[in-house]
Amino acid sequence: MDDRQNGYSQAFKQIAKAANSSSPLKRVLNSIAKSTAKAMKAAGCSILLLNPQKEHLNIIAAYGLSDLYLRKGALNAHRSLPDILEGKVTAIFDVSQDKRAQYPEAAGIEKISSILGVPLLQMGEVVGEVRVYTHEPCHFSHADKDFLSTVANIVAITLEKGELYQELKAGHEETVTERRKLAETPKLPSSSLRPSSFGHPSEEEFARLLDFYRIEWLYEPRSFPLAWQENRVVEMFTPDFYLPELDLYIELTTLKQSLITEKNRKLRRLKALYPELNIKLLNKKDYLRLLAKYGYGRLGGRKVAGIDRVLFSHTQIQRRTTALAKRISHNYVGRQLVLVGILKGVVCFMADLMQNISLPLAVDFMAISYYGGNAEPAVKITKDLDTSIAGLDVLMVEDIVDTGMTLNYVLNHLSSHNPASLQVCTLLDKRARRLIDVPLDYVGFEIPDEFVVGYGLDYHGEYRNLPFIGALAPELIEEEGGK
Ligand code: 5GP
Repeated sequence: MDDRQNGYSQAFKQIAKAANSSSPLKRVLNSIAKSTAKAMKAAGCSILLLNPQKEHLNIIAAYGLSDLYLRKGALNAHRSLPDILEGKVTAIFDVSQDKRAQYPEAAGIEKISSILGVPLLQMGEVVGEVRVYTHEPCHFSHADKDFLSTVANIVAITLEKGELYQELKAGHEETVTERRKLAETPKLPSSSLRPSSFGHPSEEEFARLLDFYRIEWLYEPRSFPLAWQENRVVEMFTPDFYLPELDLYIELTTLKQSLITEKNRKLRRLKALYPELNIKLLNKKDYLRLLAKYGYGRLGGRKVAGIDRVLFSHTQIQRRTTALAKRISHNYVGRQLVLVGILKGVVCFMADLMQNISLPLAVDFMAISYYGGNAEPAVKITKDLDTSIAGLDVLMVEDIVDTGMTLNYVLNHLSSHNPASLQVCTLLDKRARRLIDVPLDYVGFEIPDEFVVGYGLDYHGEYRNLPFIGALAPELIEEEGGK
């Protein structure tokens, strides 16, 4: 292996040089993939990034792999070499026999026998992977694993450098504290996950619309072979987008009839060959309709006018709510759980939370109003609980905790009724504005100091029916609306 080790030190020189160059990020990463594959005498190398939910992987740079292999489909991080998600180096000797390979047939066509994958770590967190592929079956040595792990470290630094550069270029002056405040806000895929260019302006516009609504997307992640001559693929179809949350491929069309006819032909063939595939051919009017169907989009008209941006999509809220409900279900086993909500802002959250708690429970609601002039606003109960909570385990369910004054008042009121226990679950925590330090046992998301609406939360009685949570355009805000 001396020969290879000598190759490794040569490769480090090239990789470090590429990483420190001023070339565009994509070119740097492709060059690192090439040097890595060559040094390891491998057939190919890829660099992959995880999406924010850590569910799928997107190839951002590669060397030595065919277009068909690169677009074999969305890589599920839990099905493709899943141990890497746990931070482990993973070697597969025989891809055709190993359950940890998600696409063994595609690997077979590519003549790949073995794969070595290492985690890409940023601040101790797995954010992606680096993989090498060999044609010959290979037992990777310690030196191979060490080399690839070091390459992954260099890639991680390179990505960070790239992001930092982008931020500086964009003039971002976000302070560290502001960043920390936003730490719990799910991020959109980082800029390095995005394609450097789109095939058509309408695709770029569609991507922007998906971003606005925080719907995850992958651009051209998979090519489907449509026709073969002998063993060679002679025709392929690559849908423009894949929306993992909806498990839907989307092909956008222009208005040119000749192109539509050709795409329709390909689509018919695609559906015949891959009947399980969920794909839609959309023109602009269609895709606005599609978004509206899922509760998004401009066809919502007045419904979304005044929304500055979406903070949490419906899917993100559902995921977080399910996770909270799971913890609550675990912690309240064998107890007499009563969920208490304050009308009206909590209705959506309460409805989703309680359906995901797998325990018998009771539900009650209170209503309050605010009064007071220039002095501190005071809270008055306008509807009290219907039944006694004495001796029961009360979980106060809140939509948002802001200054903490409402919650503090309601908790004092409830504890005077002698529950066995009293805890708080809030979907949103606007911690930056806290005046009274109320204990929060379950928190959905921490949010910055902005006025938010949707998913039950209103502004002067409007926006409650939005399926997502958005920040209200600052120019609309006169004073903050209530329950
Ligand atoms: P507190 O300041 O007492 O913690 O919160 C009082 C109430 O103000 C909340 O329960 C909620 O009804 C309302 N509130 C606070 N921040 C927001 C916000 O960003 N959006 C909306 N719609 N209501 C809010």
